[in-house]
Amino acid sequence: MKKPTLAITVPCYNEELCIESTVNSLIDVLSDLMAKDKINSDSFIYLIDDGSKDKTWEIISQLHEKNHLVKGVKFIRNYGNQKAHIAGLLGVRDLGCDCAVSIDADLQQDQWAIEKFIDKYMEGADIVSGIRNSRNTDTFLKKTTAVCFYKLMNLLGVNIPINHSDYRLVSKKAMDILAQYPEKNIFLRGFFNELGLKNDIVYFDVKPRLYGSSKFSYVKLIGLALNGITSFSVMPLRIIAVLGFIMALFSICLGIQVLVEKYILNNTPAGWATIVTLMAFFGGLQLFCMGIIGEYLGQVFREVKARPRYIVETELK
Ligand code: UDP
Ligand code: MG
Repeated sequence: MKKPTLAITVPCYNEELCIESTVNSLIDVLSDLMAKDKINSDSFIYLIDDGSKDKTWEIISQLHEKNHLVKGVKFIRNYGNQKAHIAGLLGVRDLGCDCAVSIDADLQQDQWAIEKFIDKYMEGADIVSGIRNSRNTDTFLKKTTAVCFYKLMNLLGVNIPINHSDYRLVSKKAMDILAQYPEKNIFLRGFFNELGLKNDIVYFDVKPRLYGSSKFSYVKLIGLALNGITSFSVMPLRIIAVLGFIMALFSICLGIQVLVEKYILNNTPAGWATIVTLMAFFGGLQLFCMGIIGEYLGQVFREVKARPRYIVETELK
């Protein structure tokens, strides 16, 4: 296999504090790989400004003026990090490359692992997922909720590697497939593992964020998780149906018991506690089930409107 042209895609949202040092570190990585003759000299970095409100785009433009390796695109508003990743992949595909590695703007993921991704690519992998060695930099809450999420996804039949963040290499072939998907809310971690292309993994270390703060609030994370589940699995809907069936059976038994007590044993009980508990239980269950259905309905609603995934304001090529 001939040595590839590599594009490194970086989603950036209000990253003025770290973007310059990040770009410099990534240029070091590219130079190193070029010196080792592992990638072509027309490899480049592609920064996706996800509607930042600070000086991120100004800094990106300056870096682009100084170094032709730095390219980028700016959204007119914040669309969220999955959209930025998609824009990165489609953007570098148009510019021309053989493979792309996505990495976070805070470089929490060890950028020197990119070499291992390229090695796996050269061995024939189309998708290489980065798996973190540990979650020591995360808070206890984030760690446990993340583990629950991955476990739940695997339980629901969505095949994603545990502890894989969006640090991944994608071949041109996979980008071409992505470009054919009209679906707007793609959850990339699930998407690339379902294509049937050759997958591989690379382990990497996670560092604490040096500048700025996390751009992911818990609300955004919950949104991402719900989108991941509802766009990949109809299992929750099925569970509702089964649950409803079991409840119906249960209520028939309950009915029989009530009749027996009333007409045969003649000891109609006061039964207040039972009724109140059952009412609360079924009320809660119904609301929960309606919520799940609502999530799917929302997914259909968003897709059916067929709005563009994102709107680009400017692009630096
Ligand atoms: N990000 C983005 N749009 C958003 C939120 C985040 O493009 O709405 C980018 C952010 O700039 C960073 C990456 O997504 O490059 C991961 O975000 P962050 O490091 O804040 O998340 P964490 O590491 O805390 O999960
Ligand atoms: Mg981070």
